[in-house]
Amino acid sequence: MRVETSAQPRPAFDRTRHSTSDPRSIWVVVNKKHPIDAGYRPQIDLVRGYQVAAPAAAALTRLLDDSDVLGLGFKIASAYRSYGYQADVYSGVVESSGRPAADRVSARPGHSEHQTGLAVDLVAPDDPACDFDACFAGTPGGRWLAREAWRYGFVVRYRPGSATVTGYSPEPWHLRYVGRALATELRRTRTDTLEVFFDITGGDYP
Ligand SMILES: [Zn+2]
Repeated sequence: MRVETSAQPRPAFDRTRHSTSDPRSIWVVVNKKHPIDAGYRPQIDLVRGYQVAAPAAAALTRLLDDSDVLGLGFKIASAYRSYGYQADVYSGVVESSGRPAADRVSARPGHSEHQTGLAVDLVAPDDPACDFDACFAGTPGGRWLAREAWRYGFVVRYRPGSATVTGYSPEPWHLRYVGRALATELRRTRTDTLEVFFDITGGDYP
């Protein structure tokens, strides 16, 4: 006898659908324990004049267009960064602040998500006091990103309370493209980090 049920079980989320180690994958996990090759360079598309990895470009454009309609006025401050550029950024911070302080806020070359082209930093030039500051989380733009970025396939990658897992202090302005399916699943399961979701080591440098 065939039994009809109205409630279909939710199909299990396939955590192996994309690689977490291939830098071309939208699910790649890059952190202080999992670097990518110095020579890796993504396929690039331009969004408002900034280089981003091709898989993230359309979603980022939609996010920015929608935020413009709401008057949030985001500008891209940083998107794809090459290994060489990240080396310059990091050594600049080491020079000005010393290595221990630099490691809390700036990735060593090969350890930055920005080298994948899947990460983007947003600022709000009309209200710049909180650009690149923790207080960005409390601005209208920061609150909107925390609430809505998943709809576009992005996550706020470095959240409060996750520094020991991600290796970084909270960065409410740093978005990472992971695709709508994973962003939705992270939200549904209330999981703050890719490391916890995929059971991948993070935290400080080895
Ligand atoms: Zn960033």
